[in-house]
Amino acid sequence: MEHYHAYALHNFRTIPQIASLPEDMIRDIETVGKVLPFKTNNYVIDELIDWGRAEDDALFTLNFPRRDMLEKRHCATVERLMAQNVSKEILDAEIQRIRLSLNPNPAGQEHNVPCLGEIKLRGIQHKYPETILFFPSQGQTCHAYCTFCFRWPQFSGMSGLKFAMKETDLLLKYLRLHGEVTDILFTGGDPMTMSAAILDSYITPLLTPEFAHIRSIRIGTKSLSYWPYRYLTDDDSDDLLRLFERVIKSGKNLSVQAHFNHPRELQTEALRQAIIRIRGTGAQIRTQSPVMRHINDRPELWSEMWRRQVDLNCIPYYMFIARDTGARHYFELPLEKCWNIFRRAYRKVSGLCRTVRGPSMSDHPGKIQVLGVQEVKGEKVFVLRFLQGRNPKWVDIPFFAAYDPKATWFNQLKPAFGEAKFFFEESKTPVTTKPFLFE
Ligand SMILES: *Cc1c(COP(=O)(O)O)cnc(C)c1O
Ligand code: SF4
Repeated sequence: MEHYHAYALHNFRTIPQIASLPEDMIRDIETVGKVLPFKTNNYVIDELIDWGRAEDDALFTLNFPRRDMLEKRHCATVERLMAQNVSKEILDAEIQRIRLSLNPNPAGQEHNVPCLGEIKLRGIQHKYPETILFFPSQGQTCHAYCTFCFRWPQFSGMSGLKFAMKETDLLLKYLRLHGEVTDILFTGGDPMTMSAAILDSYITPLLTPEFAHIRSIRIGTKSLSYWPYRYLTDDDSDDLLRLFERVIKSGKNLSVQAHFNHPRELQTEALRQAIIRIRGTGAQIRTQSPVMRHINDRPELWSEMWRRQVDLNCIPYYMFIARDTGARHYFELPLEKCWNIFRRAYRKVSGLCRTVRGPSMSDHPGKIQVLGVQEVKGEKVFVLRFLQGRNPKWVDIPFFAAYDPKATWFNQLKPAFGEAKFFFEESKTPVTTKPFLFE
């Protein structure tokens, strides 16, 4: 039985390994951790982080806030207020102001929130016809927090931005009205922080004949990386695996969308055992990660990651480009660099690893893949395509943007060849006649 110990700002100094860090790094955790989310646990501490070289270690950087993740002026402000011992109200107000300046809700996620009559379904995002994202309210936390996470407003007590919904009822009502939906993706936070009983209450109704149009249930989770004991020794691990079995027996696909950022997360015995147990239920495991400076910005890390994932019977799925939020300036990479990392890793692995797609930006119009940099009639351009489009007709049509060596996100790109608009911006016709887009 493995016991879970959570660490956050109030108790991280009790982590034995922390004493090995220079005092200024410890103080920086305290300062920056007031603004960015911070929470970790004993598995991450004992099995994933390389404490001998914490200062350069990807897993340390993934879990512990550090100075360079905030802008200098923001860091200085928090430090000054802390040194002045200002009241909690003043400090909190300033922290809130800094957070709001960090684009806490990127890519207009609120545009994808649908309605049921008069009711706004805050716990659902429906952007692509066949798939909905569902944010169960009890699953809006994680076993540990990634410092780059774009869901970070949810962990920081910004309740107005919390896309959460208690009522399974509303979800089911919505799905009854939307026969075009085939996939439901449980997301968060991390839905695997929920008990098996709660997860069961959401999933079991979907297995009835009424919801035959739902072909696939996906669960997006970081638990395999941050707490594999979820599937091994937690009190309700066995119940969870039996729930997975029931989904498979009902004839639906169950896919765990596992989030791994670095090959080290794929090395522990606990992870190996957890994967064997999940795969034993008939569920599949697909993997995804953003590509980030300081974490995984070398092709060898990606080819190693994909190979190990296939060794472990997981299916590499997406490489994402880190979102324009939070500590973006610390993690972001130029688009061209992302593509070079992708292709240099991709060409070294066998076809079984090449199920992965990317690098891809999830922006307002859809998931845009950087296919590469090319020269067309003397002009250097980015070749792009939609992997997913707000309008399904856009998918898989190559299009071009003017080359920009510094660009890190789609909104910085301009159409190539002096054109005024990208092809999908020209469409005057409504994006769709179906009522699933509520803008
Ligand atoms: C990625 C994504 C999905 C799922 O897309 P697939 O290509 O089917 O994996 C659904 N909704 C949103 C908003 C997404 O970003
Ligand atoms: S596990 Fe996912 S949702 Fe949780 S902090 Fe990390 S990136 Fe965010």
